[in-house]
Amino acid sequence: RYNFCAGPAALPEPVLEQARDEMLDWHGAGLSIMEMSHRSPEIVGVAQRAEATLRDLMGIGDDYAVLFLQGGASTQFAAVPLNLLSEGGVADYVNTGQWSKKAIAEGKRFGNVNVAASSEDTRFTTIPARETWQLSASADYLHYTPNETIGGVEYFWVPETQAPLVVDMSSTILSRPVNVADYGVIYAGAQKNIGPAGLTLVIVRKDLLGKADARCPAMLDWKTAADNDSMYNTPPTYALYLAGLVFEWLKGQGGLDAMEVINRRKAEKLYAAIDGSAFYANPVELQSRSLMNIPFTLADANLDKAFLVESEAAGLLNLKGHRSVGGMRASIYNAVGEDAVDALIAFMQDFERRNG
Ligand code: PLP
Repeated sequence: RYNFCAGPAALPEPVLEQARDEMLDWHGAGLSIMEMSHRSPEIVGVAQRAEATLRDLMGIGDDYAVLFLQGGASTQFAAVPLNLLSEGGVADYVNTGQWSKKAIAEGKRFGNVNVAASSEDTRFTTIPARETWQLSASADYLHYTPNETIGGVEYFWVPETQAPLVVDMSSTILSRPVNVADYGVIYAGAQKNIGPAGLTLVIVRKDLLGKADARCPAMLDWKTAADNDSMYNTPPTYALYLAGLVFEWLKGQGGLDAMEVINRRKAEKLYAAIDGSAFYANPVELQSRSLMNIPFTLADANLDKAFLVESEAAGLLNLKGHRSVGGMRASIYNAVGEDAVDALIAFMQDFERRNG
């Protein structure tokens, strides 16, 4: 069975197998990793190895802190302004979809937010051209969403700005290489390409630490986490352990360069199948089509239900589109192999033959 869920998403099979084998007795300790103190050398070692492997995978420099937190990307929507938006300052945001909107709404609770550009007028099927962005003269940061999970819209460029770039990479992180040095803050919920839900990753340039509002809760202040090696309170130890296994698996696959080659091949195949048929359609402008989340509609929405029932019976799970856009969505994160995409395309073609 193949899992196309947008998140929590498929995990690599070898990772799940290793976790199963180590579940009751981790490395001969006689305990499950879940039962160990986060102060124990075992868990501290797991956390340190996970961080080191991630630094290696993404090329994260020593001038960045890597934080393993909780609360999901949604909590970071608030943590970002609490850490970076100064009294009387302004933050620029770009609105390219539902997740941008949520980040903007949360930012507005804490200070001045300038929506510098929006693609709402195209129903979030485009990214506003950089020349049209109305940036503030001296924003504390510029926030955008490199991949909109619901709309399936992805940036394949990095805006040049004065202000530090703060990005919600939840659904694109680890799918291809990025130049970490381009960003002030990268954050992501783990439940797509990192590991199980419950873990949140924040990568923050160290000069941006220590600027939090006085009323910022300790748990949301990135400096608290950085000063305590992400162990200010009890971290999600099991999720961290699994994320570490995923990072090792990615290294074994050849790292992010290799993942990009595979991910591009998967996405190109699926877009080609959609574009090659009058029965299926994807509304996103060509240059901004997501490699990870591919929404598509059927020419006759009355067939949606049959498509979902039959695809599930064929072992193709979780293809229902987000309730805000309807239709279908195939999320093809790192753990979704090319064989899964091939199986989906074969099903789509067969369904079209029978119903088109
Ligand atoms: N941002 C993006 C781009 C997402 O795809 C999601 C979840 O799907 C979120 C934020 C919310 O993440 P969380 O559920 O970890 O708060």
